[in-house]
Formats: sequence, structure tokens, C-alpha cells
Amino acid sequence: GRKFVVGGNWKMNGDKKQISEIIDFLKGGPLNADTQVIVGVPSIYLDYAKNNLPSNVEVAAQNCYKVPKGAFTGEISPAMIKDIGVNWVILGHSERRNVFGESDELIAEKVAHALESGLKVIACIGEKLEEREAGHTEDVVFRQTKAIADKIKDWSNVVVAYEPVWAIGTGKTATPEQAQEVHKALRGWFNKNVSPQVAENIQIQYGGSVTGANCKELASQPDIDGFLVGGASLKPEFVSIVNAKQ
Ligand code: 13P
Repeated sequence: GRKFVVGGNWKMNGDKKQISEIIDFLKGGPLNADTQVIVGVPSIYLDYAKNNLPSNVEVAAQNCYKVPKGAFTGEISPAMIKDIGVNWVILGHSERRNVFGESDELIAEKVAHALESGLKVIACIGEKLEEREAGHTEDVVFRQTKAIADKIKDWSNVVVAYEPVWAIGTGKTATPEQAQEVHKALRGWFNKNVSPQVAENIQIQYGGSVTGANCKELASQPDIDGFLVGGASLKPEFVSIVNAKQ
């Protein structure tokens, strides 16, 4: 079976004081030992978080560029992330796509380079409200996934995060049925377009207004393998989200 995997995406939040408080509640847990836990940390605090978090919590960068080094002011590379002992990166988050204008193509190039550099990747996809309302949800998430599939062969170090944009930071969580429907469709897409093995093994997280109150019902859906949590990952309730899988 697929391991349950819960990510906390801190986004551009936290200072050293707040981060040490988060570290304290993560240390206190207790965190289900069968669940993989990864926190996405602002790049300037990656080293601090890596050095202070308990070993059962892994660390992810929230973005990186598509080449190892060079004249790209303000960017960080997978090689740098690896160099400080961090093994994960979140790529293609809807805020990268929609606030910073990252294309499917650029995100796919970043995923490919991060994997080649030995990082594991949480690759985010998801439709906007108008796309859902127009009935284009599957077209959009399949297109975003295909862009990545065109550039990588080995999916064993990739976790997919399905995050409908209309559910992010809005308090409007997808219903368990809405999320399950898309997760199942994605697994079907992998079955047809990549391989039955990848479809069976790939972990697909749900993200978008996940809370301590709604996580258990979402976690009970057969194709939901974990969460990517924004706002609630900054609060002690994150511990109950980590422990959502019964
Ligand atoms: P919220 O949990 O704050 O809705 O954010 C979800 C998200 O974007 C995680 O990457």
C-alpha cells in the first residue's frame, strides 16, 4: 500500500520565533510513525529548520530553479538544497503558477532538474474556479501532469499534490467526493499514459483548506494518500492532520 504523506507548506510565513514554536509542537507530536511528514520552509530558514526539527519530520524547499548554478539573481538550485541536507522541493504550487507566472513547461523543467539532482519533488497541480465551473477540471490537471510526464521517466521520487485553486486559503475545502473524483481520474491518467505500476504506487495528496476538522473524512477516501496543508500547518492542529489516517 501507499504510505500516507502529509506536507506542511508554510509559504512566506514564520520568523525564527514562530518556527521554533512550530518545531516544538512537531517534537511534542505524537506523530503517527506510519505517516511521512514533510514541512515546506522559506528558503532563508531551511538550514535552521533542518538543524532543529526532529528526524521524523523531513524538510522541503518551496521552489528552486532549473539549473545547478549561474547568473540567476534571487534563485536557489537543487544542488544548494541538497548541499544543506534537505531532500525535498515543492514545485508548481498554484502561487508559483498564478502569482509568479510559472508555465507548465518551466515547472516540468524544474521537476526534471530537481529529480536529476537527487531531490524528491512534491509536484502541485490544480484547476481554478472558472475552469471547474466550465467543466475543465480534468483537462487542466491532465495537461499539467502531462507537461511533467513529457520530461521525466521515473516517478518514484515524485508526490503529486492536487490542490484546486478555489480551495486554497479560502476555507472552501473540496468535498471528499470532489477530491476523490479527481484523485481517481489522475490515477487513471497515470495508468493509461505512464504505467499501471506508477498509477498504483504514486502518492496523491489533497490540498486546499485542510483542517483538523475535515481531514479524517478526506483521508478515508481510497485515492487520497495525504495532504498538503497551508494555513493549518502553522498551528498545533497540524499534528491531528498528520494523524488523520485511521
Ligand atoms: P491552505 O491549507 O491554507 O488552503 O493552503 C493550501 C496550500 O496551498 C498548500 O500548498
